[in-house]
Amino acid sequence: MRRLTLALIAFSTVILSAQPPQPDWPKIEKETLEHFQTLVRFNTADPPGGERPAAEYLKQVLDANGIPAQILELEDRRSNLLARLKGNGKKRPLLVMGHLDTVSIDEKKWTFPPFGATRDGGYVYGRGTIDDKDNATAALMVLLTLKRLNVPLDRDVIFLAEAGEEGNSRLGIQFMVDQHYPELDAEYCLAEGGNVMRENGKVKFASVQTLEKIPHAVELVARGPSGHASVPLRNNAVAHLAEAVSKAAQWRVPIRFNETTRVYFQRLADISSPEDAKRYRDILSNDPKVSGPADDYMLDREPRHASMIRTSISPTMIQAGYRVNVIPSEVKATLDVRMHPSENPEDFLAALKKVINDPAVEVRWAARDVRPGTGSARLDYEGFKVVEAMVKKDYETVTLPTMSTGATDMAYLRAKGMQCYGIGPGLDVEDGPKGFGAHSDQERILESELYRFVRFNYDVVAELARAR
Ligand SMILES: [Zn+2]
Repeated sequence: MRRLTLALIAFSTVILSAQPPQPDWPKIEKETLEHFQTLVRFNTADPPGGERPAAEYLKQVLDANGIPAQILELEDRRSNLLARLKGNGKKRPLLVMGHLDTVSIDEKKWTFPPFGATRDGGYVYGRGTIDDKDNATAALMVLLTLKRLNVPLDRDVIFLAEAGEEGNSRLGIQFMVDQHYPELDAEYCLAEGGNVMRENGKVKFASVQTLEKIPHAVELVARGPSGHASVPLRNNAVAHLAEAVSKAAQWRVPIRFNETTRVYFQRLADISSPEDAKRYRDILSNDPKVSGPADDYMLDREPRHASMIRTSISPTMIQAGYRVNVIPSEVKATLDVRMHPSENPEDFLAALKKVINDPAVEVRWAARDVRPGTGSARLDYEGFKVVEAMVKKDYETVTLPTMSTGATDMAYLRAKGMQCYGIGPGLDVEDGPKGFGAHSDQERILESELYRFVRFNYDVVAELARAR
């Protein structure tokens, strides 16, 4: 009997060690809420940012759990936190990120206090709840859970909580990449940039960002004679500029696709109503007679999709004139241009000049904090397959690889060849228009989706990092 018991113990130990250790989720959820609320309660609105207290809090939690962490600053109080959980080094590290700063607030517009982290009706309200203290909290919980369960790792898991993502990336990701890259260097990174889309409370799909457009700025400068406005001039610079701006805005820049956007529209078609599905398939056609009507529809009704398939142009600023009775001699407009990753910038500028076709208007690049490179995450890579599998496990839905029209901190890491995935929690599609979205005055997250997001993060990291 005793021998049998011993044999049984030995047998079950073998089975247990073959299985990864299982986290105690109810306990983790309780702690998640605690750290999440604490992080939201630090006012890290940027400007002025002031991420240090939040970074110090994270450091203290990590230190207390035996995970070495350090705080790195380019400017006083603009703290980045970096922590590392060691693996056996068989594989290159994995980096999880979240930024600590938030956009600023207009306090009187908030129903709940912006830094209160108030729980109400299943939500937590506050600035940063979905941008980006959710990702920062999830990354923290992943490291704590791996450490406490003593999960053997084939690779280091690195946690970076950055400063300055909201408009001051030189203090955050740029500084970290320029001056601390060896401490970040990884095969993979997980960061904000995606989400799980819910409609009527039901999960529809998960959007995982695998690449992004590249921001540029173009200036149009029109010149002409100045003079008394009582004597109209044919070569009035303001009139030339207005026409040039209008031509640029109305130019239907040729459509381009890449691996991400092609798969995105194919998979979106698979889960859409028949008429939407037809458009998403038509847009992929090489025949302009087929893609044209779909493009028309998107330009009118789905502007984000229209931007995903081309280099886009939005006129945003015009500087012209100073008095009603003076014709100015030089006036200027600025265009926000989001370059498709496969577009050649010089060819694009040449084409834009042809569209404007006015010798009185100079078309030139304007200074902009241009992000580097055009790296993208490959869909045939192990990491993407794991992300997809865990989306299926935790959300029972399909993954749409997405190219974001906006820029993120991942651009700096992809430029170094890192495979980066932009992820995010489940959000109700109805929330944005109702004013509960990111950067809104009632930013909020569903508590249950915060917990599921932590679990999803853990599943992805554990699957990619645990020892085999
Ligand atoms: Zn963000």
